[in-house]
Amino acid sequence: MSRYRIHGLGLAGCTVAWHLWQRGVTFSIADDDQPGSSHVAAGIVQPVTGKNATISWEYDHYFSQADAFYRQVEVQLQTSFWHPLESLRLVSLADEKKILPKLTRGPASAYFLGELHDHPWPGMRAIRLRGAARLDVAAFVDATKNFFASSRNDEDATGAENIHCGGAKGLIAHHPRVWPHRCAKGEILTVHAPTWQQSRLVSAGAWLVPIGRDCYKIGATYEWDHLDQHPTDEGRAWLENAAARLGGSEFSVLRHDAGIRPIVRKSQPIIGREPLSQSIVFNGLGSKGSLYAPACARSLVAHLLDSDALDPSISAADYFARKIPLDWSS
Ligand SMILES: Cc1cc2nc3c(=O)[nH]c(=O)nc-3n(C[C@H](O)[C@H](O)[C@H](O)COP(=O)(O)OP(=O)(O)OC[C@H]3O[C@@H](n4cnc5c(N)ncnc54)[C@H](O)[C@@H]3O)c2cc1C
Repeated sequence: MSRYRIHGLGLAGCTVAWHLWQRGVTFSIADDDQPGSSHVAAGIVQPVTGKNATISWEYDHYFSQADAFYRQVEVQLQTSFWHPLESLRLVSLADEKKILPKLTRGPASAYFLGELHDHPWPGMRAIRLRGAARLDVAAFVDATKNFFASSRNDEDATGAENIHCGGAKGLIAHHPRVWPHRCAKGEILTVHAPTWQQSRLVSAGAWLVPIGRDCYKIGATYEWDHLDQHPTDEGRAWLENAAARLGGSEFSVLRHDAGIRPIVRKSQPIIGREPLSQSIVFNGLGSKGSLYAPACARSLVAHLLDSDALDPSISAADYFARKIPLDWSS
């Protein structure tokens, strides 16, 4: 008989499954087989992000756990989906005074590798940074689903505790219950561009990441009002413009996808038991799930099995106690 039942098998559900499995705990899986944002994501993990070049929350801690975790699963599955890589941050001459000191002297300088002088972006400075990686999220999720396929048909879930990992769909459908959310739709292109010959992640407002065989992902749009999974003409135009700006005009579009990022508050996930319902939740991975999911899943499992305290910054109990009035039980 299963001790836990995981609802939803995207990044959150998969990382929980692996940590339970590593601890020898029995569990079953209830997944609706609908592609979530994990099947759209580019899987980029990078230390310095945003127009102000800030460092992602607790980056080194979460990166080292993600790196160890994905490598371990790769060995277990005899496959490859985790790809560390160098990144290039393009800085316009207009932003130079504000951004360059941050990259070369501020906290972000820990990732600074130098400046690239021979590059194809006129009017830009190209700064090399270490510490990025790309997770092929869909490959990781699909390989995990296959590995745990036998857990899916275990209907004997009597007495099992439910772990809700429903991503944006769960948040929007109020499952397991009402949560305020700030989910954001995102669109992304996959292109083929043999002439680009770019081995680094390149970012400047948008980003371009190589995925092998002369293919790249280009992303990503943000949209808060129309939370559906349909690619749009406006999204396509924005992404093609970004592709031409970052890669060059010679490319052909292979795919244009859209998904919904599960956001509760910026990119800090929420894990643990909701104080009112005592439901176990793991959601809110935001736009940085590849970075945060492995360590969060590990903390959640240690909390459930060993009663380890959760970091208050990600604990559901702390979040709901601080942020939410306790009368939202519809
Ligand atoms: C355009 C775009 C680009 C992105 N790029 C990046 C990136 O570069 N790097 C990065 O780290 N992140 C990126 N993300 C974010 C990333 O996709 C998320 O952080 C992460 O994949 C969320 O995983 P999840 O498991 O919480 O949700 P999901 O992947 O949505 O998985 C949840 C699954 O649960 C299923 N489900 C829901 N409710 C139930 C239920 N009641 N019963 C059974 N099943 C249920 C859903 O159908 C879904 O399959 C991007 C997202 C988008 C949209």
